[in-house]
Amino acid sequence: MTLRPHAVLIDGRLESGLEVEIDAAGEVHEVRALEGDPEEYVLSPAFVNAHSHLEYRGLQGQLTARGYYDWIQAITSAKLAQTPAQVREDCLVAAYENQLSGVAYIAEHSDRPYSGEAMSHHGLDGIIFQEVITFGKESVLGDRLGEVAENMRQNARHFDGDVHINPHAPWTVDEATLRSIAEAGGRISIHVAESVHENDYFEKDKGPIAQACRKAGVTRTLGLRVVPYLAGLGYLRQGVQFVHCCDVEDGEIDQIATAGVAVAHCPRSNEALDCPRMPLREMLDAGVLVGLGLDSAASSGPIDMFAEMRMALEVAQKRGAEVTPEEVWRMATTMGAESLGLHGWEIGEGRFVPMLKIHVSDAQSTGDLIATASPRSVEWVTPTVHN
Ligand SMILES: [Zn+2]
Repeated sequence: MTLRPHAVLIDGRLESGLEVEIDAAGEVHEVRALEGDPEEYVLSPAFVNAHSHLEYRGLQGQLTARGYYDWIQAITSAKLAQTPAQVREDCLVAAYENQLSGVAYIAEHSDRPYSGEAMSHHGLDGIIFQEVITFGKESVLGDRLGEVAENMRQNARHFDGDVHINPHAPWTVDEATLRSIAEAGGRISIHVAESVHENDYFEKDKGPIAQACRKAGVTRTLGLRVVPYLAGLGYLRQGVQFVHCCDVEDGEIDQIATAGVAVAHCPRSNEALDCPRMPLREMLDAGVLVGLGLDSAASSGPIDMFAEMRMALEVAQKRGAEVTPEEVWRMATTMGAESLGLHGWEIGEGRFVPMLKIHVSDAQSTGDLIATASPRSVEWVTPTVHN
């Protein structure tokens, strides 16, 4: 099959005057000079959602708390009222909407056992991080870890990709468990420095997280900011993804870059929860591999990679440290993939990357495309894999 798009996204840039030959399995045989009339669509590698919680889809628009800490309290209580059947359905809906939005690969955080089935059902590839939260469960730690292991088995039963145990966040997991997960040496994804409260707790034993930990009788090493704290436990290495990193200092960005830790940026969620604006420009300049994540619909809103890209541009601009549309497109595709250890996620000869036709009229630049496209613009190229 020959694809003759108006333009091809290569390295985040719109390149016109090219056509792409693929076989029935979706392998790219040739990228060559255009020989026929182009059609009115743009060809792109499919999106990689670098951070997701499918199971919170049913809470979209339901939580009114604004600040990070109040929001965490609100979602924790809302979860208690959900039935397993609801949560399973929410995962299926969210997986379907990811597919409609052009996402082929998800780095999924799952506290329950249904993400694997939902991703498989909708043809989504990815990696599942089975969340460990031990906060408030320290007295029944063995039972808690047993539940996590059972949920992980359920996810793995229905899903071909890898499923790893992962700590939800440094403050929601006890220190011994944090240490043992790092020592196991597997791939890890962990929420880090999403709000200022985390550093207030780890460095100064102050703020709402400190209060909650005192009330729950949690004890741990304090006196360091969270990035050096995690460094001491073995988290600064390749194969680790830090999610958010809103409240990090320049020296910490350098540590993250030097260690080869990847970062997931979720700007719509961060704005909704009044988190500090993530230093994206500095991260990219330091050479950190940053992926774009849709986080959960409960905080980010509708599952829509184009809306996430628009917010990434807007937030960087508001900080006065702009990023380019091409960089943001790479975060949603090639760099996002690379941040999760997937290499070659681009349209080139011999590649098997899933591809999208994005139907927009008159996109002259990647910026135009981000400004005008929506999930309704997306059509999958490789029906053997998706749809
Ligand atoms: Zn998250």
